[in-house]
Formats: sequence, C-alpha cells, structure tokens
Amino acid sequence: MKTTANQSVEVIADILCDACGASVVPDFQKEHRDNLNDFSEYGILHASYGYGSNQDGDSFHFDLCERCFKELVSKVKSMPACNAQGA
Ligand SMILES: [Zn+2]
Repeated sequence: MKTTANQSVEVIADILCDACGASVVPDFQKEHRDNLNDFSEYGILHASYGYGSNQDGDSFHFDLCERCFKELVSKVKSMPACNAQGA
C-alpha cells in the first residue's frame, strides 16, 4: 500500500538584477520552464575575501542583468589600471 503526502517544494520562480531590479530571465524562458533552478545564463558577480585581508571574511554575491553587467564591465575597463595595460 502506498500512502501519499502533499509536499511543497521551493523552486526558483524568477531571478532579479541586484542593480536595477529587472528580471534577468527572458519571458519565453519563464513560459517554457517549470522552474529556474538550473538557469545560469546571466551575470553573476561573486567575491569572497580570505581571513586576514582588509575585507576579512566578507563575501559578496550579485545577480546582474545583461545591461547592468555590460555597464559594470565597461566601468572596470575604463579604470586607470586597465588603460595603462592598453586593454
Ligand atoms: Zn540590471
């Protein structure tokens, strides 16, 4: 005999950009997927600092839409160190 139970499983329904708040998931992806648990086609900025550094143990994680990620990349590329290397 089998008995049943109602289980509620938490799934990722949307992923929002940490900079502008827009969804990073195209509409057609949301329509054709049951959930977004394995969706990885967006910008992720992740940094963690080791113990003993100035940011001692801090860790940062930002999900970014394509537009904000591009903006960030162009900002970094415009920084003096990048320009000095001719990048
Ligand atoms: Zn954004």
